[in-house]
Amino acid sequence: RKKLVEIKNLKKHFVVGKDAVLKAVDGINFDIYEGETVGLVGESGCGKSTAGRTIIRLYDATEGQVVFGGKDIHSMNKEELKGFAKETQMIFQDPYASLNPRMTVGDIVGEGIDIHGLYKGKERMARIYELLEIVGLNKEHASRFPHEFSGGQRQRIGIARALAIEPKFIICDEPISALDVSIQAQVVNLLIKLQKEMGLTYLFIAHDLSMVKHISDRIAVMYLGHIMELTTSEELYNNPLHPYTQALLSAIPIPDPEIEKKRERVILEGDVPSPINPPQGCKFVGRCKYAMDICHQVTPEYKEVKPGHFVACHLMDQ
Ligand code: SF4
Ligand code: MG
Repeated sequence: RKKLVEIKNLKKHFVVGKDAVLKAVDGINFDIYEGETVGLVGESGCGKSTAGRTIIRLYDATEGQVVFGGKDIHSMNKEELKGFAKETQMIFQDPYASLNPRMTVGDIVGEGIDIHGLYKGKERMARIYELLEIVGLNKEHASRFPHEFSGGQRQRIGIARALAIEPKFIICDEPISALDVSIQAQVVNLLIKLQKEMGLTYLFIAHDLSMVKHISDRIAVMYLGHIMELTTSEELYNNPLHPYTQALLSAIPIPDPEIEKKRERVILEGDVPSPINPPQGCKFVGRCKYAMDICHQVTPEYKEVKPGHFVACHLMDQ
């Protein structure tokens, strides 16, 4: 398979005070192949959204590279950046806040078409109607305003807006977290259907592992600016190797009471520590029940422990 995005030692730090640096993303490495979905999972504050935004250059990277279609996006010239902007889109978490309440749905969906000068007049309207139908809405909706729609419908509008410029790569930043559970599966299924039909590539950000399995080919688990584990969805659910992944998985309820009874639950205590003064060594050390002396001093190397299965944990050396 062909690599679409290569993320190499990517860092995004924010200066937040005189001597304080918030290391939101602190050296992440992974590739995204054409047509696949990579899930990016972690508790809130672990750097997932910042990673997503830096990967499509809504933020400039502090260090490292994002190679898209063979070119480093941070050294693209103006013309190349315009091309890159046309290939990438983002779907946001909050379908309430991310749609301009004063714009009609048609103009919201048509914004990218206008910016990139793709269609005008009748053709533009025809394209907007087509997009609304693709996401399960209809042309009557074009003249209405966002407040007239439910959360699930608004997220469909957000998806139509993202599709308008025919991107290759879409960052879905917790697109279902703000929606009713009953609506979540519908939106995920729509995203899967669109991916198949249009050959889209997704980075799908989520704060827990319950919904990502269904949509992701591979999953990266992030903690305090670092990737702790990355492998196929199958392997991650059946054979999680990082203690943090194991804890996240054990938080998902299992519908079968027999299995549920036998299962050992790992309770994650406390919150993610502040990325402003992260602990030395392994970032998970304060919450890990396997923590050893070395974990306090040395950051474990992120390495491939089995083909395609990457883990950053000192336990892998034993
Ligand atoms: Fe736990 Fe140590 Fe592994 Fe970190 S490196 S996850 S502290 S065992
Ligand atoms: Mg976020």
